[in-house]
Amino acid sequence: MKQNKVIIVGGGLVGSLAACYFAKRGWVVELYEKRPDPRDPENLGTRNLRSINLAISTRGLSAINRLSPEVEKKVMDIVLPMYGRMIHNLDGSTAGQAYNVFGKAINSVDRGRLNEILLDECETFEGTKVFFEYSLEKCDMDAKTATFKNLKTGEIVSTSGDLVIGADGVHSVTRRFLQYYTKVNFEQVYIDHGYMEFEMRAKDGQFQMAKDHLHIWPRKTFMLIALPNLDKSFTCTLFMPWSKFNSIKTEEDLNTFFKENFPDSIPLFGQEEINLYFTNPKGSLCYIKCSPHHYKGNAVIVGDASHCTVPFYAQGMNCGFEDIEVLDTLLCQQAAPLINSKDAEQCQNVKTSSLTSDQIESALINYSACRPRDSASMIDLAMHNYIEMRHSVNTLSYKMRQWLEGK
Ligand code: FAD
Repeated sequence: MKQNKVIIVGGGLVGSLAACYFAKRGWVVELYEKRPDPRDPENLGTRNLRSINLAISTRGLSAINRLSPEVEKKVMDIVLPMYGRMIHNLDGSTAGQAYNVFGKAINSVDRGRLNEILLDECETFEGTKVFFEYSLEKCDMDAKTATFKNLKTGEIVSTSGDLVIGADGVHSVTRRFLQYYTKVNFEQVYIDHGYMEFEMRAKDGQFQMAKDHLHIWPRKTFMLIALPNLDKSFTCTLFMPWSKFNSIKTEEDLNTFFKENFPDSIPLFGQEEINLYFTNPKGSLCYIKCSPHHYKGNAVIVGDASHCTVPFYAQGMNCGFEDIEVLDTLLCQQAAPLINSKDAEQCQNVKTSSLTSDQIESALINYSACRPRDSASMIDLAMHNYIEMRHSVNTLSYKMRQWLEGK
């Protein structure tokens, strides 16, 4: 029987989940990642530094559960549930706001460790090969051939398959090639705000703040947030207009800024950490909407490559994971039209690895009919939620609504 081969570009969170799914469905999988293997202790400093930890919600967990409840358990073993927001007021007082009356939570997870679980999982399948330090140079989407540069040796290698998946993030090279091959409507917008991270270390082996909340210091036009880590530290992210970042030029400016805006955080960080303001990297934030996401039955882009969002709804990776769940559902529908392809249990033993090119194309047409629209909605919600997080959560009307809803 024919066994299809998929070439996946990018071994970040979404690419590594895609590799697990396609391997499970019987495909030969080749995964190419630009960075060195993050699991090798020698490469600790080369991890994806976009955010050290992030929030994984039901949307993302559902995609992992469909892949394997065992893998979901491995992920749940490394998360810290956050049941609500903890608002830090200017006078140092705090106020908890539950996310939900039923006690549901979103979960803080270490990006690197999550990536490692998925990379380990995809390598358990025979027929899966992961190539690190290979960067996509070219993609012939008619021939379904991708050309990579080995970043260690400079060697150029080409590989052909039955489907190319671009999971190569916001600056996706695969997306650029998709735009050569088909008419892609495309919108990219940089917002006027950037971000940087600080670490709030554990003190005497303990968390310095409540570990079961997402902490927010809302200051109308900017905010600081903190998510807990398993080592009892918090990763704190300052989101702020670039003009404000640029106005802090000296240590004195910096100390005044912290005293005026986040006084309660100063003893928790310590002066040394605060001073890293001048050296820690600062990142820009943009969103990308594009449509369609595919070309024939030959290529498809997923994750940030297809719908980068600003992070204020904590749904970028979660949406990327949902992409893979939806893609798998649509491929299963082609392979086993008589079962409910949305039902993970019914699909447990379905193989999609011998689908014809026409069947893959049908799945991808359906995929592009829903994902661009759904992810665009998520992007709009995320833009709106920035205003809620940095300002509305502290308004009287918001607090009244919370009170009326019994949260
Ligand atoms: P990436 O994580 O960017 O991975 C792409 C991979 O492709 C990388 O490993 C890269 O090295 C590789 N690559 C790139 N180019 C090539 C090439 N030419 N050849 C081969 N490989 C290549 N999302 C959430 O769901 N919850 C959150 O709480 C959250 N918080 C966030 C906080 C911040 C500050 C930011 C910036 C983002 C946050 N996100 C969050 C969004 C989340 O980080 C992204 O949506 C997620 O990383 C997307 O995964 P991805 O695999 O599509 O892309």
